[in-house]
Amino acid sequence: MAIDPTQPYDDDNIFARILRGEVPASKVYEDDWALAFHDVAPQAKLHILVIPKGRYVSWDDFSATASAEEITGFIRAVGHVAREHDLVEDGYRLLANVGAHGGQEVPHLHVHLFGGQPLGRMIA
Ligand code: IMP
Repeated sequence: MAIDPTQPYDDDNIFARILRGEVPASKVYEDDWALAFHDVAPQAKLHILVIPKGRYVSWDDFSATASAEEITGFIRAVGHVAREHDLVEDGYRLLANVGAHGGQEVPHLHVHLFGGQPLGRMIA
């Protein structure tokens, strides 16, 4: 079910639980600002989710209220993960779903990183 991006942050959402180590995840990168792990239902040969460590529901509250350090750290982590997976030469896709029309299901900001194959013009 799509989430309402204006809702208060839900500390029981699945990505909050992954951040706290309560739920296992196939982690590929972690630093002070972000955690990256494989999507449990990959939609491309490589499908990684990158999430900020802060309590942000979506790109909306993150872009409006996160500190410059958090935003820089998160964006740098996304780029780092792509480079670490040798995706730059062939290219890749980033996607952040927001709210109902965006089809967002997990209420903790996440950027989908798709790669490892030609992706066509659209991917959900
Ligand atoms: P959204 O539609 O942008 O919110 O995408 C949520 C993504 O999280 C989907 O691609 C799910 O497959 C993925 N997902 C949900 N639960 C887990 C999990 O426990 N581990 C890894 N990925 C998950």
